[in-house]
Amino acid sequence: MESREKTKESLLEGLGEGVRFNVPLAPYTSFRIGGPADFFFEALSPWELIKAVSVSRSLGIEFFILGGGSNILVSDAGFRGLVIKNGCAALLTNGDNPGVQSGFSLNELVDKTAELGLSGLEFLAGIPGTVGGAIFGNAGAFGKSIGDLLERAVVFDPDRGLETVDRDYFEFGYRSSKLKRNGEILISTSFRLEKKTAEEVKREAEEIRTLRREKHPQNQGSIGCFFKNIKEKGKTIPVGRLLEQVGAKKMAVGNAAVFDRHANIIVNRGGAKASEVRELAGMLRDRVREKFGFVLEPEVVFLGEEPDAT
Ligand SMILES: Cc1cc2nc3c(=O)[nH]c(=O)nc-3n(C[C@H](O)[C@H](O)[C@H](O)COP(=O)(O)OP(=O)(O)OC[C@H]3O[C@@H](n4cnc5c(N)ncnc54)[C@H](O)[C@@H]3O)c2cc1C
Repeated sequence: MESREKTKESLLEGLGEGVRFNVPLAPYTSFRIGGPADFFFEALSPWELIKAVSVSRSLGIEFFILGGGSNILVSDAGFRGLVIKNGCAALLTNGDNPGVQSGFSLNELVDKTAELGLSGLEFLAGIPGTVGGAIFGNAGAFGKSIGDLLERAVVFDPDRGLETVDRDYFEFGYRSSKLKRNGEILISTSFRLEKKTAEEVKREAEEIRTLRREKHPQNQGSIGCFFKNIKEKGKTIPVGRLLEQVGAKKMAVGNAAVFDRHANIIVNRGGAKASEVRELAGMLRDRVREKFGFVLEPEVVFLGEEPDAT
């Protein structure tokens, strides 16, 4: 790898003045936790995004695609590569199948489609982040997932280039998609939605938002459910319930604490460190393993090295 100064110069040469250095990542995450990225670039078009990936690969530096930062825990030491913030956020409405770039806000998409009287995405109302992050983790709620509605998409593979694919390509599963395994990048996508009245769709989305406001932290940093629910013999075991039974709601490490209304959510009470979150998550995992024999799997994505990883 080139020296840091040389890398800086090459990045400026390849991506222009938009590249920034030593950028704190905490403000880019809903957890408000994490150290700096050595290099940071916001891509405002698919071409800039592809260019950033290509430049970082040619320089031999790691890259990370950042959406809304609502499902990542950034380490206290930060990230030694290039964070590419996905700012590609165009929406194309064409009849019943809206097309959207992957940096578009999921919540805004719910509202825009509601205005157009297009139904299907309402169950995602209130989930923060971008369309790209949602497809990556097959985000969902109330037994439904975003992947069910995907029609076609454009993905970018750094070796193979751009490809148009359909729903089956993603091999969607519970909180998983092929993107999690192959490192491809979602550029844009379209959804198959149904026609209803705008009032109906808006009402449904608002009801979902109200339900969420009761269950999710409003004023504290969090990244939603920390662990995946357990799938066993065709049944879903909600991890929140197991965690409640091991006394999770009273647990905290430093400023990282379990949310008092949902035992599978960790909140930042103010100034929490990633190491505190990881320690708390490790304690929760151990307690569930000891009492129930289940090994909990994180739903969240970890970015950057953590010396005292659990
Ligand atoms: C209060 C709260 C409630 C939540 N409720 C839910 C819920 O009900 N259901 C649910 O599923 N999740 C929930 N979440 C978690 C989170 O909002 C979702 O997982 C969301 O879809 C993540 O999107 P993001 O853009 O923020 O992704 P980020 O956190 O930015 O990134 C997550 C991962 O996606 C990858 N990624 C992002 N964009 C792309 C792209 N274009 N191509 C390839 N990879 C990409 C990133 O590299 C990273 O690995 C909640 C979070 C919070 C804070």
